[in-house]
Amino acid sequence: MENVVIIGTGCAGLTAAIYTARANLRPLVLTGVMPGGLLTTTSIVENFPGFPEGVDGFELMQRMQQQAEKFGAQIKFAVVEAVDLSVRPIRLTVDGETVETQTLIIASGAGHKHLDIPGEHELEKKGVTYCATCDGALPVFRNQPLVVVGGGDSACEEANYLTRFASQVYLVHRRDTLRASKIMAERTLANPKIKPVWDSVVTEVQDVAAGKVTGVKLKNVKTGEESVLPCAGLFVAVGHVPNTQLFQGQLDLDPAGYVVPVKGMATKVPGVFVAGDCSDSVYRQAVTAAGMGCAAAIEAERYLAGLCG
Ligand code: NAP
Repeated sequence: MENVVIIGTGCAGLTAAIYTARANLRPLVLTGVMPGGLLTTTSIVENFPGFPEGVDGFELMQRMQQQAEKFGAQIKFAVVEAVDLSVRPIRLTVDGETVETQTLIIASGAGHKHLDIPGEHELEKKGVTYCATCDGALPVFRNQPLVVVGGGDSACEEANYLTRFASQVYLVHRRDTLRASKIMAERTLANPKIKPVWDSVVTEVQDVAAGKVTGVKLKNVKTGEESVLPCAGLFVAVGHVPNTQLFQGQLDLDPAGYVVPVKGMATKVPGVFVAGDCSDSVYRQAVTAAGMGCAAAIEAERYLAGLCG
């Protein structure tokens, strides 16, 4: 039986792993399908303390993993298929096998939100993507007009990154002001290769019959006017949905699906703690996720000490 199982290897999970490993608890850390979490899909992280020059998101996560492993964390590439929080020890089904643990730290993060419009699903990976750093350099996007949807930091970051490859980047936002942080918004609007398309939503991705993206249908939400914007790619950056489906009915979730802790990082189930984007709809920063991972680890350690005492 494990002392601690950690679900997720983003900033929250790996920080929890560093702390519980240093406490000699030999945590078992399960990566899920995206080892390193969403930060691995970011280019340069400029606001993680300690890196005045910025740090590549993938490299940051690799370094966190090395740090956790150095102290004895067992990192396993595995997907959790089911959890039973009603039994003691807590039981998980991981790639078909049963894993038992005294404590569980849920740091399962969040996934990309979709637009749910015609053509989006059909053309996914055929020009529709959710990650500019993963796909932006593909030949199909080079020297072509590209569309980014969204008005937050992610959309601005994607738009700026894509200017390296695209002939022109259109930033389609449903309002006329960006939600992104001031520094990011200013940088984006000052970029001559980025053209904002305000008060507009994408209503359809074309051309499903051709099997590739040739353009998007736009609708101006103020005038109702419809138009087609030719492009070779659609980069969707409209936020995230928490990866918490496994815990439905077992933990308190808010209407958007985020886990609601009862006190600190503790959930309503003794021995089960939560950290990072799967329980944070407010801050959602790498450093806040790391802080929550640290707090969850300390609480798990104290819980285990209480069981022994
Ligand atoms: P976000 O801040 O929630 O922004 C999502 C954007 O998508 C908003 O502008 C929203 O419009 C728009 N949107 C949502 N649903 C839509 C829909 N169905 N159709 C069209 N537009 C839609 O998400 P995010 O940009 O991914 O950022 C998430 C968090 O990560 C934030 O806290 C952000 O600061 C942080 N982050 C930080 C950095 C960085 O510091 N380098 C980089 C990336 C992300 P409205 O504005 O009208 O709501």
